[in-house]
Amino acid sequence: MNILVINCGSSSLKFQLINSDSEQCIAKGLCERIGIEGSQITYSPEGGEKEVNVTPMPDHTEAIRLVLEALTNPKTGVVKSLDEIGAVGHRIVHGGEKFAASTVITDEVMKAIEECNDLAPLHNPANLIGINACKALMPNTPMVGVFDTAFHQTMPEEAYMYGLPYEYYQKYKIRRYGFHGTSHSFVSKKAAEDLGKKYEDLKIIVCHLGNGASVSAVKNGKCVDTSMGLTPLEGLIMGTRSGDMDPAIIEFIAHKEGKSIDEIMSILNKKSGVQGLSDNLSSDFRDLEAEHNKGNANATRTLKTYCYRVAKYIGSYVAAMNGVDVICFTAGIGENAALVRSWVCQYLGYLGVTIDEEANHKRGEDVVITTPDSKTTVMVIPTNEELAIARETVRLVK
Ligand code: AMP
Repeated sequence: MNILVINCGSSSLKFQLINSDSEQCIAKGLCERIGIEGSQITYSPEGGEKEVNVTPMPDHTEAIRLVLEALTNPKTGVVKSLDEIGAVGHRIVHGGEKFAASTVITDEVMKAIEECNDLAPLHNPANLIGINACKALMPNTPMVGVFDTAFHQTMPEEAYMYGLPYEYYQKYKIRRYGFHGTSHSFVSKKAAEDLGKKYEDLKIIVCHLGNGASVSAVKNGKCVDTSMGLTPLEGLIMGTRSGDMDPAIIEFIAHKEGKSIDEIMSILNKKSGVQGLSDNLSSDFRDLEAEHNKGNANATRTLKTYCYRVAKYIGSYVAAMNGVDVICFTAGIGENAALVRSWVCQYLGYLGVTIDEEANHKRGEDVVITTPDSKTTVMVIPTNEELAIARETVRLVK
């Protein structure tokens, strides 16, 4: 069965068509600047030429229409008709406490997703627009929602509650939810599979280090803690997000700089993280590494602070699970930045971690980067959220 995986943002839409039998991606692409002047669709069929087409996309329905047109194009398409698309899997950012698993999308489910809009005001409305656009053009094709938060719903109360007045949880459901759940689930399962061990027997820590970044603790096949919170702002230092900090800093900056809460939130989300900490050198680790190698003190400080925070989270999850068997690195930085992995692992001597630097420099494959006598296994596992969404979709529609 061919599964169309849709990841819809407010002005962008990423898509992949995945054959669920071979688990191969047969075409993928991206619509950008939806509803904005200069919109364009990029389409790459497997084994074919990448096409970029600048064309008006006033709304998401038009974007989806162009995606379906590209997929069925007689010359460059990969399917003859829409009948060859068996189901659509939608990535949905926030499922609140309502969704602890993926689900077939019905009118009731759409209402429940809408009720989570307050928790993810930038993402959930866009996800719903994507679902509506697909429903309009493929009314008889089953749709499945896969939630970024669902995998973390197994966290115990002590891990998800904040030290705030309890009424805020009762009234507004303010608690830790966590994100990147599809990736944490995919990577932790893959680690067990690669090592030939039972998922339910392992204590695994997954470091998803991308532009957004989070760590999770997976004990006996269930997530027991994760670093992102009510929103994706908490936890690690990220590309442009601050991660953990003293909440009183918000008031301090507001007074010193005469800024509103909205302005400060925008700084914490868009101008902080490694971008801010490096004094605006870059949010990209390729640049930071290159600058560090040239002796740039801003880059060195940034990389050191970043790795220290990751190591501290690993330590806290070792405590939460009373041990760890496997630590996995994934996503853009986790998969590619050998220096970051090496520096993080330098803090892990107490876990008996010994890095094999030759293995640590391999790229693009699942690899164990510790020596055979290392007490804890450290792995690099490329994440594949689209494949995980396709698998969930097939499971629910078959
Ligand atoms: P993601 O959000 O998972 O796509 O990760 C994107 C981030 O990965 C980029 O902003 C870079 O910081 C980082 N990245 C990608 N490629 C490399 C690389 N070859 N070396 C170091 N960092 C990389």
